[in-house]
Amino acid sequence: EYIIEAEELEFTYPDGTRALKGASLRIRRGAKIALLGSNGAGKSTLFLHFNGILKPQKGKLRFNGVEVRYDKKSLLQLRKDVGVVFQDPDTQLFSASVYQEISFGPLNMGLSRETAREKVLQAMEDTGISELKDKPTHFLSYGQKKRVSIADVLAMDPKVIIADEPTVWLDPKHAKQIERLFRDINEKGTTVIISTHDVDLAYAWADYIFVIHEGKIIGEGNPEDIFADD
Ligand code: ADP
Ligand code: ADP
Repeated sequence: EYIIEAEELEFTYPDGTRALKGASLRIRRGAKIALLGSNGAGKSTLFLHFNGILKPQKGKLRFNGVEVRYDKKSLLQLRKDVGVVFQDPDTQLFSASVYQEISFGPLNMGLSRETAREKVLQAMEDTGISELKDKPTHFLSYGQKKRVSIADVLAMDPKVIIADEPTVWLDPKHAKQIERLFRDINEKGTTVIISTHDVDLAYAWADYIFVIHEGKIIGEGNPEDIFADD
């Protein structure tokens, strides 16, 4: 029933910053989740644990009911299963053309050119960037780059997509498109988690919200419940 379960995660960066101070949460498979918190609350640090880039210094993490293991093979699988769309697409995109960019992951995973091609074309279609196929990523608009970075992750067929502040720096029209895109991705069966400091976005978009503050989950619930005055 739960795809990700974190129990009392603690993480301190080498400079002594305590980013997670016992964060616990359970994410239901297929859910549309918002992780709501201000800058520095620990959202990105939590996400980097979900895809295995960071290893908990204390606490437990389970994926699909199984405790996460940190050997090379398990980590490769986890990074395929849990795709992260970073806040700034420029840190994610490095290939010459849009098509090359999105095919990198599937080819790197060892898929045949033919299978990779199918995944890439599908991911481009799902994100509405088919017509950008041969364009150099370098010259795309910010909104287009954002879509390419989402297609990048989608082409890996992840079970969970995590997006760090996906609508920040976008104008309202493009922000709405991205919100809709993540809703569609969720409706096709992928668990979607977005981080945001935007209460209205969390309320309108998510079916379940976790509130993180100073490295701990301090509230959770359905949008109607969590913002109800009591
Ligand atoms: P109970 O505490 O009675 O089991 P819930 O099933 O609502 O009540 O909550 C249990 C856990 O399920 C919560 O801690 C939360 O992690 C998760 N959860 C509940 N509803 C949702 C949802 N719509 N989407 C994702 N996760 C949910
Ligand atoms: P959020 O994503 O909610 O803004 P972060 O997880 O990025 O929060 O940061 C949590 C805390 O950890 C903040 O105090 C932040 O300054 C600090 N932090 C994040 N990354 C690093 C790092 N690489 N080195 C030291 N401190 C960091």
